[in-house]
Amino acid sequence: MIEIKQVSKKYRLKDHEVVAVDDVSLKINDGDIYGIIGYSGAGKSTLVRLINQLEVQDKGKIFIDNQDLGSLSQSELRKLRTKIGMIFQHFNLLWSRTVSQNIELALEIAGNKDKQLRHKKVQELVKLVGLTGRENAYPSELSGGQKQRVAIARALANDPKILLCDEATSALDPQTTEAILLLLKKINCELGITILLITHEMNVIKKICNKVAVMKSGKIIEKGDT
Ligand code: ADP
Repeated sequence: MIEIKQVSKKYRLKDHEVVAVDDVSLKINDGDIYGIIGYSGAGKSTLVRLINQLEVQDKGKIFIDNQDLGSLSQSELRKLRTKIGMIFQHFNLLWSRTVSQNIELALEIAGNKDKQLRHKKVQELVKLVGLTGRENAYPSELSGGQKQRVAIARALANDPKILLCDEATSALDPQTTEAILLLLKKINCELGITILLITHEMNVIKKICNKVAVMKSGKIIEKGDT
């Protein structure tokens, strides 16, 4: 479970301050597909960066499985981050690495030194995301949907409990969006991974989320069942 309690985050610019996240409280239960919807600049990405502590809040507390993130050491935080996968609008793949190598990199970075085990895991993930046969392709040889499938496989490499999706379908056409959302739903159901999905598109929320929060000017202005 992710619990966000009265969290605020300000950015100090040269001549003014921006309150990106303003006194936000939210509870995301295990197994939820929780959508956060809002216009650009509403504070959605900042909230996601606070959950994996790439940014630190000015006020409030964030708990994951009852663990106060503010009380963790740097090494405990690094360990926690391996249990939180993330995917992005523009995929963030390495262009000089193949599909398999992009996925394997996540395992190498997490310190998995067993090459055979890594290869087995990569094979499983390639199959899960529907890319069998494209293992040796480079990102430039893939469609947008296929690139996002690689990014999803990479995000799942270290068996995360939580998957954060930041506008993950915003660069895709409607048909591909539909296929990627179905894949996320499958991952949620089959692997039991909690998904937090941020988007500016209501159809994305309608399609797969069970819970939704509406964000505006840093605040949650409405939340509940979809
Ligand atoms: P969204 O994801 O909903 O588009 P963001 O979280 O990216 O919103 O941004 C919320 C507000 O915080 C915006 O006004 C944005 O300009 C500002 N902001 C975000 N990141 C930074 C940063 N690193 N430095 C300064 N301002 C930022």
